[in-house]
Amino acid sequence: MATPDHISLTLARHGLRHTPMRRAVLDVLFSKSFALSSNDIEQALEADSDRITLYRTLRTFEQKGVIHRVLDSSDVIRFAACSVACTEQAHADDHVHFKCSACERTYCLTQVAIPAVQLPGGFRATHRDYLMSGVCQQCHAE
Ligand SMILES: [Zn+2]
Ligand SMILES: [Zn+2]
Repeated sequence: MATPDHISLTLARHGLRHTPMRRAVLDVLFSKSFALSSNDIEQALEADSDRITLYRTLRTFEQKGVIHRVLDSSDVIRFAACSVACTEQAHADDHVHFKCSACERTYCLTQVAIPAVQLPGGFRATHRDYLMSGVCQQCHAE
């Protein structure tokens, strides 16, 4: 569970005002070790939460470097909290994502950096996605 302090610090670090929705969304994202779709987040929020506000919050968080998109092989967009080093200008956590074929969760392997890739002349990457799939720790143990 995210501490109120962690949430406050995150909002402050990115120059964001505190709103009930921002706090609630961060609380949900910080409490999970895997990426969540806007639908997953909506279901974890209180029943009367406004969907438009949720979408707006996710967009703001993504722009500010609070959360990042986690692309997997499905066409559902999922989000996960960024590392503390991420800012609006520079997304600092280039880590591997892992999709589990058993539980279908996609995890941020924040401790596993995307390996260096040598590109041919003339190609300049501005974004990197690295997805591995298989069986996660938890499913493997079962
Ligand atoms: Zn799994
Ligand atoms: Zn990630």
